[in-house]
Amino acid sequence: MRWRNGFAIGLLALFATPASGQTYVPRDIAPVIESIDPLTVADEDFARSRDPEAWEGLSVSRISFREGPVTWRLWRIANLRHRDGPLWVLPHDNENATFAAALIAVRSWGGVVIAVDSDPVAHSYAARFNTGAGAAPVDPNRNFYDALPLYAGTILADLGMPPRLIVALHTNEPGFDASLSSCPHPPYGGSGTISIKLCTARFHPRASVGRAWPFDDDDTLALVPYPVDGDPRGAFCARRLGGADFNIVFERVTTSDGSLSNYASLHGLRYVNLETAETGSTPVGLAGARNRLVAMIDRMMTLCGDGPTLALSPPAAHLATAGRH
Ligand SMILES: [Zn+2]
Repeated sequence: MRWRNGFAIGLLALFATPASGQTYVPRDIAPVIESIDPLTVADEDFARSRDPEAWEGLSVSRISFREGPVTWRLWRIANLRHRDGPLWVLPHDNENATFAAALIAVRSWGGVVIAVDSDPVAHSYAARFNTGAGAAPVDPNRNFYDALPLYAGTILADLGMPPRLIVALHTNEPGFDASLSSCPHPPYGGSGTISIKLCTARFHPRASVGRAWPFDDDDTLALVPYPVDGDPRGAFCARRLGGADFNIVFERVTTSDGSLSNYASLHGLRYVNLETAETGSTPVGLAGARNRLVAMIDRMMTLCGDGPTLALSPPAAHLATAGRH
């Protein structure tokens, strides 16, 4: 098996809170890894991508483990020709455009995709939560705590040393609740919790000036965290993203909310979260959100994918497809 268990053990040692006084939870089950055929596996994300060419040079496996009462399933997709490159993390199974974007990204830029598999039919909002037997629903992006080392250690097992860049991909509900915002003139309402026009003590935006595609949409943005006592301009890639006129949300991290952005910031890991508006799972809806994500990925990697062994060959053909605007 190509997945290297030693990384997981090393990461657990690196990130776990010292175990003094803790009692081992006997229900934990260490990760089990099995190879998967992406052309036949019963899962809607894969069913939308049955083209054998899309999987050439990629290895796919399923990782299962249990921590406390919660059973987790992950997909791991690795670029065998370009093993270096980012760790692409997809916490939410219902955000279907992120899977399509990650498949393009890992082929273009190398590295490894880790996608949480909550549901083989992941259309509904409920599919963003992990609902294992006997366990309360868990948001996979609120489970990154040192006290849950198996979860973070398994998802981040491919980080390596020095740690590779983490790129999280999300879609989000359009707009936001204006009552949450301290911006001078919150412009409209909505159901989302993130937008380039949202200002709080924790989130502060730097909106694109030119508003050129893909940043003509308030929900299409890069989120970069920084520690409470740090300088937001020192956040990963912040200056270059600003220079390239990205929509940028700076997240000031105090105590962790269990999100990967907070975990990465508190552990000094390089991290950027790329988000776009959720536009549904029709072919047109998926293509539109996917293309905005891929456009941000390619620009961000060109600006800040500074690893010497990255596969610097972004394809452009996919951006010419329908649904771009
Ligand atoms: Zn998400």
